[in-house]
Amino acid sequence: MIPRLPIRIRLALWFFAVFGVATVALLAACLWMVHRSIVELEANELQERVRSVQRFLEAQPPKEALSSQQRACAVFGVTHGGKWLQIIDQDGNWIYRSIHVAEMYPRLALPQELGSGGTIFQYSAGDHQVRALISPITVYGRRYTVQTGLTLNKTMAILDDFHRQLLLLTPIVLLLAAATGYTMSRRALSPVAAITAEAQRISDKNLDNRLPALGTRDELADMSETLNQMLDRIEAGYRSVREFTANAAHELRTPVSLICAETEISLAFERTAEEYRETCESIQQESVRMGKLIDTLLALARADAGTELLYMEVLDLNELVRDAAKKWAPQFQKASIAYTVDESSGDPRIFGDRASLRRLLDILIDNAWRYTPEGGMVSVIVWRDGHQARLAVRDTGIGISSNDQPRIFERFYRAGRPQNGGHPGSGLGLALAHWIAEKHHTSVEVTSDLGRGSCFSSSFICVEEAVPYARTPSIQVGAPG
Ligand code: ADP
Repeated sequence: MIPRLPIRIRLALWFFAVFGVATVALLAACLWMVHRSIVELEANELQERVRSVQRFLEAQPPKEALSSQQRACAVFGVTHGGKWLQIIDQDGNWIYRSIHVAEMYPRLALPQELGSGGTIFQYSAGDHQVRALISPITVYGRRYTVQTGLTLNKTMAILDDFHRQLLLLTPIVLLLAAATGYTMSRRALSPVAAITAEAQRISDKNLDNRLPALGTRDELADMSETLNQMLDRIEAGYRSVREFTANAAHELRTPVSLICAETEISLAFERTAEEYRETCESIQQESVRMGKLIDTLLALARADAGTELLYMEVLDLNELVRDAAKKWAPQFQKASIAYTVDESSGDPRIFGDRASLRRLLDILIDNAWRYTPEGGMVSVIVWRDGHQARLAVRDTGIGISSNDQPRIFERFYRAGRPQNGGHPGSGLGLALAHWIAEKHHTSVEVTSDLGRGSCFSSSFICVEEAVPYARTPSIQVGAPG
């Protein structure tokens, strides 16, 4: 395969080719115009000579052919114009005959043998190139043929000189064009070289480096700025992945350390069956917590990678909260928290993924349970609001400060202390809830008063409004993985 030439060389070649073709075309046009002007000048000169012969003949008294001959010899014999001149009348009488032409043209056409206009032609006479005009004229009713000529030697010498100089100049101009093209493209592309060099230096170790700001306010400056913005996004993404990994490792280390500590302590001495049971229970709790944490981490990792699968189907929100109530009722009862479920009297059917919406509901109910003290109250409510079905989990718990509210959906962000001995949490639940809501074209909204309670809610478009979805029995969101 032929290697592709660098852009600067290609640009220089293009410049050279275009400039070269333009130069050659211009020179050819110049030459043609000069030639044409010279030919026109010569034709005019020849016509002028014919006219001067006519003026001369008109100045002669009529019917004096002989004296005309003598006078013509006297007039034209000494002038340059007479060197290539011949004049003959309609009866074949020579009025004037140049010896230079006589040998070459022993016979000159009579005027009646010629057409009305003159004829221009060229011939060589010894060392001379002559351009000649044969033209009929009429003076006082008599007709004459005039042949006159011009030597081209001087003109040809000038033209030859002109050609030679052009031939010499052309390669110089073309060389200059090539050099200029190369220098210009090099200069124009030098910022690209700077950007390439800097881009090659950037790796995952120095993602905070940026490409040079060109400050030229042109396309290359735009490109550099756009690439820098892209680097900003890559750096932010890379940083968040690093933080996610570090936080995940930290979160997993805590239950593992607890399990290790529990087992070490219980194995250090002989224990009663009751004590062993307590240790096992504690280990089981930590294992369950660790299992949940790993589930959430995996779900978020799949969400980030775009491989979390959602199976969209028609769901009844009433049914969803009823199922959740069955699972959560005993825990609320144990914690002495009043727990109510208000189903919608209207049709709250929506289009969604059952498992992930159930997960979202569990996250919100779990939080409500953990952050509501004994004697409090948690309500799960479903209702129709126009074309929307709304879902809310309301509690009378510790609430969230207005400073924390914007941040609680960030990964690993924790604000409040869990109540009734609930597990401390990982700060990942709401991040996952947010992602699930987004995949259902909605969001999780929070309203909260510190010390008085919180309400988390989401709105979903009802199934009769989601016609395009409703017609499809099941679609998958996310790439299979
Ligand atoms: P965690 O596992 O810590 O609960 P989440 O992402 O579910 O993580 O919640 C993030 C933070 O939001 C919690 O640490 C808590 O401070 C606050 N929060 C969430 N739900 C409630 C609630 N119902 N009442 C009070 N604070 C809450």
